[in-house]
Amino acid sequence: MRFAKALVLFAHPDDAEYMCGGTVAKWCREGTEVHYVCITDGSAGSNEPGATREQVRPVRAAEQRAAAEILGVSAVTFLGEPDGMLEVNLDTRRKVTREVRRIRPEVIVAPDPSRLWSGNGYINHSDHKAAGALALSAVMPDAPTRLMFPELLDEGLEPFEVPNLWLSSMEPDTFVDIGDAIEIKLKALALHGSQGGADSESWVRERAAELGNQAGCEYAEAFKAFRFVDDEEEE
Ligand SMILES: [Zn+2]
Repeated sequence: MRFAKALVLFAHPDDAEYMCGGTVAKWCREGTEVHYVCITDGSAGSNEPGATREQVRPVRAAEQRAAAEILGVSAVTFLGEPDGMLEVNLDTRRKVTREVRRIRPEVIVAPDPSRLWSGNGYINHSDHKAAGALALSAVMPDAPTRLMFPELLDEGLEPFEVPNLWLSSMEPDTFVDIGDAIEIKLKALALHGSQGGADSESWVRERAAELGNQAGCEYAEAFKAFRFVDDEEEE
């Protein structure tokens, strides 16, 4: 699957790299214009006694920009919601819809909002679920509906129907072979130094290998892919 323009929508600096760093690297190589929209400011990303949100925020933004850059991402936008407190409300729905109508992507990649946990050792972060729910709300009904957020029309942002949505799901139906992109994914993750991004290498490899096993390749990323247009509708 090849897209002209993609929007990766996620809660925290480093989420995009975990979710789809290999896919993003491949798409960028193939000429897809990839946009990142990071919804929170990542400011809760330190448990160091004495660390403040004001200190953490710029570190995480810089790490995210560096990671996006080596993957080839065209633009990174931060919506600046406080990390750990992301809510799905009319304000955040409007903010996300503004970006979707502005960027007008052929595909949105986002977390699966229904993922509560995995296995017996991981509870999904509340912000990840909210980011996924915000992506779904943007796809339907917020971005395509003219009477949703009429103030966006005043900004020149006309309604937009998102043709494809790829959720980073535990029940995937679409696999991307990232054999030639796993190293750059790991490099991008390592750039999130404040989060110990490099320490995750072995389990990131393991997970990619597990998905590769399902897909019939060495390493893969996996998604649940929705498609909302008939092929004839596209020119
Ligand atoms: Zn996260």
